[in-house]
Amino acid sequence: MKLIYDLTLAKMQEYFLEINQKPFRAKQLFGWLYTKKPNSFEDITVLSKDLRDSLSREFVIDGLKIADKQMSKDGTVKYLFELLDGNLIETVLMVHDYGLSLCVTSQVGCNMGCKFCASGLLKKVRNLTPGEMVGQVMKVSHDLDVRISHVVVMGTGEPFDNYDNVMDFVRIINDPAGLAIGARHITISTCGIVPGIERYANEGIQTNLAISLHGSNDEIRDVLMPINKTYNMDKLREAVANYIAMTNRRVTFEYILIDGVNDELIHARQLAHYLRGLNAYVNLIPYNAVADNDYKPSSPEKTAAFKAELLRLHINTTQRKEHGGDIDGACGQLRAKKSGVL
Ligand code: SAH
Repeated sequence: MKLIYDLTLAKMQEYFLEINQKPFRAKQLFGWLYTKKPNSFEDITVLSKDLRDSLSREFVIDGLKIADKQMSKDGTVKYLFELLDGNLIETVLMVHDYGLSLCVTSQVGCNMGCKFCASGLLKKVRNLTPGEMVGQVMKVSHDLDVRISHVVVMGTGEPFDNYDNVMDFVRIINDPAGLAIGARHITISTCGIVPGIERYANEGIQTNLAISLHGSNDEIRDVLMPINKTYNMDKLREAVANYIAMTNRRVTFEYILIDGVNDELIHARQLAHYLRGLNAYVNLIPYNAVADNDYKPSSPEKTAAFKAELLRLHINTTQRKEHGGDIDGACGQLRAKKSGVL
């Protein structure tokens, strides 16, 4: 069975031509799916009975089942979804003063092997389809009856290791005929896959790019993030500089502060030097301890000193609030627990 959410509006129109339907019918279907949120094709009464029947023989609307749900005191809601093939994925809703943002998963498991991350405890099983990513947005907004204003592709998986599906997902949720989530409210986060950044620079889309850096030099980054051995920090910087030149967009560098690993003032200075001249800012992220490794978050004093040093060196810096600290908030933890890895 295919998911109807897999289809961008353009692909839906192509499909309708194949089945001898008028393209404007595809637009009616697309609009209905994302504005009226029907549970079955039967409910889409703008289409003829025959067409509804034939669609329901070919497609299902949403392939996700809620397998678990945890709600934090701060409003964070973490979902564990079961896909049609039984695989489990996580999605997290966060409450901000500017709206609700959803952290979407792009793969079942992940092959990037970052040492500090719980997601990588389970190797990649497969890529998610666009519809399985769209489904995360639909299911959560339906379940809580809310409008999701921001989407970050920062859940389990490496989006640029599933490039085409992630871009279709972005086109679907951004489409003005559907959810119409603004491009500037959509962020893709990568561990630093340079060819992906190069492609993304040429998409002609106003979505955001975030880079998971976490190291201020190659020595540290090689240990934390194996991808650095393929695309080192120089190559990464060049790709990001080119992206900024092409898109005129500001890039976020995410930096987790890990006690005794990357949180000294010298690291802040190296980081400032690395970012000098880039239209970028640093988002400092509190490390979320994972049971399976020995990494610990930096102390509040070290964190404050690191941030102050970056600001002193004129590097724009923000500090991410921790969300869902009282639930299995860290990336991949809920799923890893369910699978018995944690
Ligand atoms: N593969 C992509 C997106 C998924 S990871 C990427 O690397 O950006 C999303 C973000 O969460 C990354 O910045 C990642 O480094 C960070 N992260 C992973 N495990 C974490 C943990 N235990 N605590 C805090 N941040 C973590």
